[in-house]
Amino acid sequence: MADVLWGKTVAKDIRREIRDKLSGKGLRMAAVVVGIHGDAMTYIHQKLRWGKKLGVEVEVDTLPGDASEGEIIAEVRSLGERDDIHGIIVERPIPPGTDYARVVAAIPPEKDLDGMHPHNQGRLVYGDEALAPPTAMASVEILERNGISLEGMRCAVVNRTPVVGRPLVNLLLNRNATPTVVHTRTGNPAEILKGADVIFVAVGAPGFLRADMVSRDSIVVDVGINVVDDRVVGDADPEIYEIVKAYTPVPGGVGSLTTALLFRNLLHCATLQGVI
Ligand code: NAP
Repeated sequence: MADVLWGKTVAKDIRREIRDKLSGKGLRMAAVVVGIHGDAMTYIHQKLRWGKKLGVEVEVDTLPGDASEGEIIAEVRSLGERDDIHGIIVERPIPPGTDYARVVAAIPPEKDLDGMHPHNQGRLVYGDEALAPPTAMASVEILERNGISLEGMRCAVVNRTPVVGRPLVNLLLNRNATPTVVHTRTGNPAEILKGADVIFVAVGAPGFLRADMVSRDSIVVDVGINVVDDRVVGDADPEIYEIVKAYTPVPGGVGSLTTALLFRNLLHCATLQGVI
């Protein structure tokens, strides 16, 4: 019977750890949303809820769906100049044709809640995890806080984006794990996945991780969030739950941790700005 690695209890622990440090300090974060998207609005509601619990103001800046890259960048810059805003996140998705890298580069690095600014991605390469992207951080922390050390582990990471895969590789290297990255051009991914101690899957395709890609010793961290028939599911086919050693569920796994880690990043931002 596989161990289920829940994220909800871990998220509560993190909230306890950061609550006293954050509340009553007059901190404010800004979330920039371009257009109205179900995905972005779900994340906004989570932030508003957490903000209330932690005594942090969450300001939502909504731009029209047809805002140009220049307009989005100008909005991000003007938020960055405000002393009363201590952290900024630009919600995905942004309009097609807009360069996300250019948009996040307009956030002052010390206000970069999502760890997407090139400065913070670069700091991570040097081993500084203070402003690591929350999803990548959640993927390792859900294991560590469930008592699983990554030291010496062979890890397969199915994703190579700056949001998940690339920062995750650095977090794994920092923990003396041995990561292998799998993407759409990788030949024979099943062989790599089956040979890994830990499989991190963030593809965005329900049922991607099948029984022939795992073993009895696999630990599966399912980062995928997909909606099928109005239900949220991950990237792992439920048939693997009968085979593997441990897995993170969807919902209730990695996703439950990301908001907690975003607020922990706010704490790091405020410290970097010298306001707490
Ligand atoms: P993305 O930009 O679409 O990237 C998907 C990645 O998966 C790419 O690197 C892609 O490879 C790889 N991939 C796709 N199909 C593959 C296949 N058949 N074989 C091997 N690799 C394949 O998505 P993303 O923004 O990184 O997010 C990925 C998933 O994580 C989504 O389900 C998203 O909802 C979820 N997510 C969850 C959280 C959370 O809090 N839990 C946060 C963010 C994202 P190529 O680079 O070769 O195209």
